[in-house]
Amino acid sequence: MAKKKFKAESQRLLDLMIHSIYTHQEIFLREILSNASDALDKLAYTALTDDKVGIHRSDLAITITRNKDAGVLTVSDNGIGMSKEEMEENLGTICKSGSLGFKAQMEKNEDIDIIGQFGVGFYAAFMVAKQVTVISKKHGEDTAWKWTSNGTDGYTIEEAQRETTGTDVIMTLKADTDDEQYSRFLEEYEIRQLVKKYSDYIRYSIRMEISKSRKKEDSPEDKPEYESYMEEDTLNSMIPLWHRAKKDVTEEEYTQFYREKFFDYNKPLRTVHTSAEGTVSYKALLYIPEKAPFDFYSKDYKRGLQLYSSGVMIMDSCEDLVPEYFGFVRGVVDSQDLSLNISREMLQHNRQLTVIAKNIEKKIKAELKSMLDNDFDSYEKFFAQFGRQLKYGAVMNYGAHKEATQDLLLFYSHKEGKLITLKAYLDAMAEGQEKIYYICGESVERLAKMPQVKLLADKGYDVLMFTDEVDEFVAQTLMKYEEKAFCNASTEDLGLQSEDDKKELEEKSQQMQGLLTFVKDTLAEAVQEVKLSASLGDAPVMMTPGTGMSFEMEKYMRRANPDMPFPSQRILELNPNHPAVQAMEQAMIGDSQKAKDYAELLHGQALLMADLPLTDPVAYAQLVCKLMK
Ligand code: ADP
Repeated sequence: MAKKKFKAESQRLLDLMIHSIYTHQEIFLREILSNASDALDKLAYTALTDDKVGIHRSDLAITITRNKDAGVLTVSDNGIGMSKEEMEENLGTICKSGSLGFKAQMEKNEDIDIIGQFGVGFYAAFMVAKQVTVISKKHGEDTAWKWTSNGTDGYTIEEAQRETTGTDVIMTLKADTDDEQYSRFLEEYEIRQLVKKYSDYIRYSIRMEISKSRKKEDSPEDKPEYESYMEEDTLNSMIPLWHRAKKDVTEEEYTQFYREKFFDYNKPLRTVHTSAEGTVSYKALLYIPEKAPFDFYSKDYKRGLQLYSSGVMIMDSCEDLVPEYFGFVRGVVDSQDLSLNISREMLQHNRQLTVIAKNIEKKIKAELKSMLDNDFDSYEKFFAQFGRQLKYGAVMNYGAHKEATQDLLLFYSHKEGKLITLKAYLDAMAEGQEKIYYICGESVERLAKMPQVKLLADKGYDVLMFTDEVDEFVAQTLMKYEEKAFCNASTEDLGLQSEDDKKELEEKSQQMQGLLTFVKDTLAEAVQEVKLSASLGDAPVMMTPGTGMSFEMEKYMRRANPDMPFPSQRILELNPNHPAVQAMEQAMIGDSQKAKDYAELLHGQALLMADLPLTDPVAYAQLVCKLMK
């Protein structure tokens, strides 16, 4: 019998296929099972349209047979089968997919969906098998045919024996090597795992003989003996949870599924089960976890949703389905509308996927918004885990996603003593208040003592306390929220002074120019400028960065890059009404050394209050003691 060569381009594709496209060899089983499932779909469809066929859907099944001694794994189905010509067409030419042709034939009105629109999946078998034999009998024909190939130099087709309609794909596995144990694909445990992982929701039963044990009938009750026997078992659960109606799924089932699928012991905080019909149809089952996985904020975390096409998993974590700022969402999406790429693992960024992703984003946002509005306790829990991710979202790409994220953010309100939204801040703004005030620092307790906060509080203005590094970036990126500008209370003009106030301060500054120059000369390079301020409340001094980088930002940058050359500006502000400042002015007249010590002391205080390091802590301590004596 003459061996037919694969067509030249097929040969090249085959090499490519075996050596590169599929990264995991184990997916060969998924491909072969999917083909079997397609073949069953086709027969089921034919039965629907032809009464003579007389097949019941429940008779249709896939059987896996293992022959360990021979090293052979067989996948059989009683589906539509292939004629000689079809074998030649479908298995002899890569990328000439029979499924695609069949689909085209069926026009549009059928509710049959067929995975695998490109003819390459079958060849995945050659990743693990040194020889593949396909024996098939086409529905309605009398002769069966046998196709055999070792994958490299062509194939043969000859007549064969097969009782019933259907197909056997017989794979003689490669010999084990140091790198790959091909024989594992004959182990019951391994096959169960693979079916669970990739093909659990194929809608026909996948059966396999498995070994069980039972008590020997004639063995005594008190001294039982056991024997093992083989029994057929169904390996897959067949109906995906997400295909069932919401009302038919219990809370426990959702939770159970989540735990098994996503390896999380916790219950999900929220479950979203949704579907869409229309230009793009899909079903999605999404979960918002209660706790962030340990690696969530590291680059090891793999975001994405599991993507199914007609019940067959084609991608484990499809990043394109969920935006980065909602990267905590886990779940599955199933659509029969996806046009599959050459490899199911390398799905194109196609239009359908984009539409689905947009819808999913909206769904997640709506779910979070509803939690925020109706169940604030849960939302706080959620925010403690994933709030930072949302803030990154607001900052990312210069605020490109602020619409999606800004209403979901929470910040600590000084006035309320708890986390609030920006909207709540705006709604509670006092008469005449024009800005959204915030202040950045390490802790809420510390920030509450800042003079600016007191000053604003006296006017009845709330201040948002930013204790997370990313918070300041959020304000700088958003710049405004509903037309109200953000104002950094420790670096920017609070906008509280009237023209008269400003004039008064200017006059005072002129009067006290001698002191300001004296302090600046004393502190020399340690500060850029010394000036008076009317917004210090009951504090004598304060350090501000002027219009430059804020101190919090400076600290953050310095942590990231300790050698950062430029510090923020240091501007020392003096409170002209404070007794300590007045004492310094007095001392300047009679005892200039004492006045210098006071200046150093107040400088040190200002640094401490701003949580900045003292240049020389020992000298500072000695100075305090000197002045106490
Ligand atoms: P795809 O499944 O993407 O179409 P494959 O290379 O996996 O591509 O399969 C090529 C074609 O071979 C299928 O489209 C189908 O027509 C045929 N085929 C493969 N396996 C079977 C089977 N078990 N029963 C009937 N036809 C099959």
